[in-house]
Amino acid sequence: MKRIFTLITVLTIMLAPFAQAQDQKTVIDNMIKEANDNSMLEKLAYELLDKNGPRLVGTPQMNSANDWAAAKYESWGISAKNEQWGEWRGWERGITHVDLIEPRVKTLEAMALAWSAATDGPVSAKVTMIPDVADKAAFDAWLPSVKGKFVMVDVAQPTGRPGYNWEKFGTEESIENMQKLQRETITAWRKRVSNTGYGRDLDQALEDAGALGILKSNWSRGFGVNKIFSARTKGIPAVDIGLEDYGTLFRMIEHGDTPTIRMEVTSKELGQMPTYNTVAEMKGGEKADEYVMLSAHFDSWDGGTGATDNGTGTIVMMEAMRLLKKYYPNPKRTIIAGHWGSEEQGLNGSSAFVQDNPKVVAGLQALFNQDNGTGRVVNISGQGFLHSYEFINRWLSAVPRKYKSEIETNFPGSPGGGGSDYASFVAAGAPGFSLSSLSWDYGTYTWHTNRDTYDKIVFDDVRNNAILTAIMVYMASEDEKTFPRDKADLGMNPRNGEPRTWPTPRNPNRKGGQ
Ligand SMILES: [Zn+2]
Repeated sequence: MKRIFTLITVLTIMLAPFAQAQDQKTVIDNMIKEANDNSMLEKLAYELLDKNGPRLVGTPQMNSANDWAAAKYESWGISAKNEQWGEWRGWERGITHVDLIEPRVKTLEAMALAWSAATDGPVSAKVTMIPDVADKAAFDAWLPSVKGKFVMVDVAQPTGRPGYNWEKFGTEESIENMQKLQRETITAWRKRVSNTGYGRDLDQALEDAGALGILKSNWSRGFGVNKIFSARTKGIPAVDIGLEDYGTLFRMIEHGDTPTIRMEVTSKELGQMPTYNTVAEMKGGEKADEYVMLSAHFDSWDGGTGATDNGTGTIVMMEAMRLLKKYYPNPKRTIIAGHWGSEEQGLNGSSAFVQDNPKVVAGLQALFNQDNGTGRVVNISGQGFLHSYEFINRWLSAVPRKYKSEIETNFPGSPGGGGSDYASFVAAGAPGFSLSSLSWDYGTYTWHTNRDTYDKIVFDDVRNNAILTAIMVYMASEDEKTFPRDKADLGMNPRNGEPRTWPTPRNPNRKGGQ
């Protein structure tokens, strides 16, 4: 009897690593199968982007998205809550409608900038543009003429074709000519603006002088795509006009015609609005005080629906959490998904979380953040942590080749000082990593633009990222070892010859948009 017992004991000990490897393979295979056969990504994207819409901080749509995410987690049996970290100037976009009335009729592609004031119903008026004057005195003398008019303040681009299109079809000569014209046009316009004697306060000066509204055009260097940021006016609308229509108005004025437009903007000021992070959690067992985090900012600009910035990062983390809950419901370490508010105004939600949750930061095993578009992950940096090579590679080793074949790693790398929310954790000395993705022309076509919408999502890549994230989180949670926080020697900064220093934690803006 004793012999048999011993034999069984020996066999159990011998087979334990095998059984563990079997378990590991089963969990991973199950998650991959679920992600591919029963994906929730399309439904999540529809509900978040098409149905709820963009998520500018301070808007009711941001807060309804927080409620949606928490409810979605609860429906999967994952506990989730919205944690208030501050408040922001409340605002609701409403409609923007701008028509050219004279000398011909056309509806213009136009969108009020974020936090723009409304019009008092539809308003019709002539359009003018800032003049080419010698100095501030001349500009101030001209200023009263804007009373009762809409004023154009941005350059009119000489071409709406992006550089790659010129490269493809232009002759060497025509490409050179166009590049020269672009440079000269932009330089001349900068000089025109600088000669007014006003800087960022130009729009405000025009408002003070009685302008009815400001017309802008912030081309993003792709076909039909503009970036939509904040208005700098207080009581009059500031509206972005698409390159094509802006150019039409501009050429009319240049040729001595006076266009008249009719504008209606129905935005609303909503006082102070509470701002939240949505935080979902699966409690750990053996190492409950250590944490593995999934991270993606939840807010967006609102020219589009924030589909790739950062709808795709958001649904990657939500889908990965769903996979983990289904096939790894009793994690060794506590798993937390952080969906941050107001990343766009300076990583506010995540840096508030770092301040408010010192226990989580102290016990952080790893955080994986994704926030640069819809593409498959192609780059992971060790963020300056000395032992990142050993740990990240061990976690990656469990990912099937298909989901990591294009990933380049960079160890120990250097600590990210900004860019996205992992930096809030890195600054606190905690291991935050960025799952950095392939561009798909992110900077030109979707980042902060009016074209950042559902149709730009590459679901196959997003699905790969959800699988990759789920496996990395699982491996980090199961790891026998705790991630050591030793920092690598960061070397010299080549720009000034000084030793590179670790970034310092930032103070979140908890009362923003004033
Ligand atoms: Zn982003």
